[in-house]
Amino acid sequence: MTTGHPFAPPAHEQHWVTAASELAREFAKSAAERDRTAELPIENLRALHDSGIDAAFVPVALGGEGLSYRSYGAIVRTLSAACPSTACIWVMHIGAAVGLVEMSTPDTARFWADELVDGARFANALSEPASGNLFLQPLQHAEPAEGGHRLSGAKRFSSGCEVADHFLINALVDGQPAFFGLDLDPTTMTFVPIWDTMGLRASRSQLIEFAGTLLPEDRRCPPSTGPRPNHIGAGLAFLSLGIADAALAALTAHARDRAIPTTGEPLASMQWVRFAVGDIASRLEAAAMYAQHMTWLADQNDTGFLPATMHAKLQANTIARDAADLGVRIGGGSGYTRGDIERAFRDAPAGWLMAYSGEICQDTIGASVLSPTTP
Ligand SMILES: Cc1cc2nc3c(=O)[nH]c(=O)nc-3n(C[C@H](O)[C@H](O)[C@H](O)COP(=O)(O)OP(=O)(O)OC[C@H]3O[C@@H](n4cnc5c(N)ncnc54)[C@H](O)[C@@H]3O)c2cc1C
Repeated sequence: MTTGHPFAPPAHEQHWVTAASELAREFAKSAAERDRTAELPIENLRALHDSGIDAAFVPVALGGEGLSYRSYGAIVRTLSAACPSTACIWVMHIGAAVGLVEMSTPDTARFWADELVDGARFANALSEPASGNLFLQPLQHAEPAEGGHRLSGAKRFSSGCEVADHFLINALVDGQPAFFGLDLDPTTMTFVPIWDTMGLRASRSQLIEFAGTLLPEDRRCPPSTGPRPNHIGAGLAFLSLGIADAALAALTAHARDRAIPTTGEPLASMQWVRFAVGDIASRLEAAAMYAQHMTWLADQNDTGFLPATMHAKLQANTIARDAADLGVRIGGGSGYTRGDIERAFRDAPAGWLMAYSGEICQDTIGASVLSPTTP
């Protein structure tokens, strides 16, 4: 995007986006192998921290730079195009850490900010086996105990949980949803290796079992005073945009290289390929522009942010799937064998599944449009 465009990363933050792009180039080299082994990309996550990017997200009042959502979106997209598992874990890490900073009382907020700066790792433990997509409406009760409440139950699909020091977790307290910051407690928490998936394999989004884990009262987040942007809601669209970029790059490389014997010309010169690629590229531009608009709303703390996340995620999830699908058509048998086209095809559906799913976004947007109270 043109420098100086209102949706682009602010000029004084551009160096962070450049730093992330340079790191991403390195991450791309091992992405296929990580996908094969489903090994957690801890070196990539440490490199991101060591670059200073994590600390830059700490609010200005706590000594950080309060990096904008516009820069955040650009960083997530570039990381995801290179290694979507790294990007997924990093979205959850920044989302949990900055979320805890912003939702906590001042002293506790400073503790979380210091932990992030010092290199502690954060994960989200929100989704439950039963609650599924409705992760803000937990179904598991935490029971009163000395020092707080104790949780026995399970959280599912916690990306990067195996290397996390702290968790953003929610549970019902006195029948109402409440957020807590939780330190890893190996005596009551067990990671169950359920994560043998078709895509985003290195995100290792395992199930966590809790056996009477204390959710400490002094780490309980006070009730929210109103809507505010958050990095998970903002990040998921960019996770899919990055996968769409990777799918488009892979199919383009194949279309340029593959000569069709009947014409002697590359596949790229065929009209149906040009039509299809033109359609994908144009829709990707539009989805990206809308997602950048969503981050601009976040930077204004505009109440339009939340509905915009639904539109942005839906468009980005759809274009990722469509680009990956076109990749397999253009790739033919070659695209169906292990490689960049095939990997994007397996990674692409993840964005649609992640909460809120494509169907929930469609349902929410449709209900709003159809509501008799909508002008
Ligand atoms: C790669 C990946 C990483 C993840 N990382 C994390 C993480 O770090 N932390 C975390 O807490 N969670 C994480 N999740 C969980 C994720 O955000 C979702 O909560 C989870 O995928 C929902 O899965 P489910 O099987 O319970 O789906 P379900 O909610 O059972 O959905 C199944 C189907 O029902 C539909 N559906 C469900 N509810 C509704 C509704 N109300 N209206 C219309 N349709 C509906 C869905 O669209 C879907 O088609 C991750 C998931 C993935 C795939």
